[in-house]
Amino acid sequence: MASSPLKPHWEQPSHPAVLEVVIGAVDGAGEFSSKSVSKVTLPPFGLFANLSFPPCTMAEEPTYATVQCGKNKHLDLNSDLLYINHSCEPSLIFDTASQTVIAGPKGLVPGDELTFFYPSTEWSMAQPFDCLCGKPTCRGRISGARDMTKEQLEGMWLNGHIRELLAEQEQQSSETRDTVSEDLYDTDQTAQALRDALQHAEKVVEAARTALMCYARTTRTQQHKGVNGTNGIKAAANGHINGNSANGHHSNGHAANGCYNGASTAIGAVTGSLRRGPTSRELSGEMGGDTIDVV
Ligand SMILES: [Zn+2]
Repeated sequence: MASSPLKPHWEQPSHPAVLEVVIGAVDGAGEFSSKSVSKVTLPPFGLFANLSFPPCTMAEEPTYATVQCGKNKHLDLNSDLLYINHSCEPSLIFDTASQTVIAGPKGLVPGDELTFFYPSTEWSMAQPFDCLCGKPTCRGRISGARDMTKEQLEGMWLNGHIRELLAEQEQQSSETRDTVSEDLYDTDQTAQALRDALQHAEKVVEAARTALMCYARTTRTQQHKGVNGTNGIKAAANGHINGNSANGHHSNGHAANGCYNGASTAIGAVTGSLRRGPTSRELSGEMGGDTIDVV
């Protein structure tokens, strides 16, 4: 794999019927370059070579010369197949499950450069490199499928172990996202304060509505009977206001004075809130009679 200087330890040529190795000159960066070209015509997905054992052997660990063939399995090719370079638009597919190398969807003709998409087998490469394939879809830095985006892998043929590893990676990152957003929800005090403020505002609206209804009824009663509000109505108003104050938070003193004070309490709470904005004490449910300005 790749452009590292190879010292073949196998008898060459290893695949003379299908593959020709072309050794290039040392390039400007002092890198040794090599490539391989096809000697055969193949239909789409036609069999190019087998990944047989031998010459393949299992590798102890990934190196620039290994091909990954499982989540934690790597093989040494020990043949001229090692001269098959990476391309972002490859001519070959390395299918490690069936231990075959097959032509890509366009097939092969003699003289085609033999290439495959390294991230289709490699999760995390021992020697990342900058791809110079020059194709319109070139991915640039190639370091294995682990570091590529969904878009970069879109439409590419990938081995089963790479698909499994991508699914695990996706699962882990979505679990991380869930944990982070839950933590944020629990600890975000601004969000909590706003939820409390909304709850409080709803109570104030309800108290004002109740007080208004009560006040209107009292006024009518006074007009009809010519007397001050009755105990019954005061008690009702008291009940309403206390109910709306909820959670044992007072305003009892005001409400006990009847509908008018109840209305004042509600109005005061609203105008107070508008003037100052809710304080943190109010947000935490401590809105009391003392803090309310009667208008
Ligand atoms: Zn490329």
